[in-house]
Amino acid sequence: MTALEGRERLRLAVPNKGRLVEPSVELLRDAGLVFEDHERSLVARVRNFDLDILFVRTNDVIEFVGDGVADLGITGEDLLAETGAELPRLRSLGYGQCRLAAAVPSDSGYRSIEDLAGLRVATAHPNTTRRFFETERVAVDVIPISGAVEVAPRLGLAEAIVDLVSTGSTLVMNGLRPIADVLTSEAILVANPTAQVQRAAELAAVDTMLSAVIAARDRKYLMMNAPANRLGELETLLPGLESPSVIPLAHAGMIAIHAVVGADDVWALLPRLKAAGASGILVLPIEKIVP
Ligand code: AMP
Repeated sequence: MTALEGRERLRLAVPNKGRLVEPSVELLRDAGLVFEDHERSLVARVRNFDLDILFVRTNDVIEFVGDGVADLGITGEDLLAETGAELPRLRSLGYGQCRLAAAVPSDSGYRSIEDLAGLRVATAHPNTTRRFFETERVAVDVIPISGAVEVAPRLGLAEAIVDLVSTGSTLVMNGLRPIADVLTSEAILVANPTAQVQRAAELAAVDTMLSAVIAARDRKYLMMNAPANRLGELETLLPGLESPSVIPLAHAGMIAIHAVVGADDVWALLPRLKAAGASGILVLPIEKIVP
């Protein structure tokens, strides 16, 4: 029997090419799922969980999930918005952040969306772009193209573009300047509506696996020793997940404190903890957090 027969196994559709592949595979592996490399096959059977991963084109993920061929899928918010599919979004995944921006040639006089009235806007996201300009009550001619959107003004195809931007360097390289944000996007976990009802427990199990990794990624576990009489001072510096754990040490008057803190806060926190009496401070990575 192939992995695609026997429909009792849950199926997750994941992009097989492009920007979302690597972080998606990393998330699934960090969640503890053991499966073969996506380059080898369309379907990867997860060895330690009743799940098959279908590696499909990024644009097809939504269709697979919508049709019920897959129960879950990883895709970009921008793609979901563009198809208009009303799939339940279970979770934002913390990567693939980008924005869809309207941009014009840097040397043009266009400053605002209103300046584009009556002009042509090239984009690979025609539906989202039409909706945006309709909401803004600015009539433009949307020119749908499937790639290389940033060269459209230079080719004389359009006066402006709406395209995905993450750092903005591609825009600058192409002599373009953003004038408005159309949509912000990141990778999301979506579900098939029927599966969401009929296989709710299994979907929740996968969602919990992923959310535990995502929650742990931006946190660190801190362990330190301190004089017991400095506890109050140290506690105000450590507003972790819950209150910090405080453990008495064999040495009278000394305690150990364990706390979960934001990874970005650690470096600013260390000197303040030392100043408040902490010593032997350990900073540890956290594998998973299930609140
Ligand atoms: P792909 O075209 O297959 O590389 O995947 C594109 C998807 O990755 C987009 O639909 C977005 O959801 C996401 N993404 C994140 N950052 C960017 C970016 N700077 N440019 C294009 N897509 C991005």
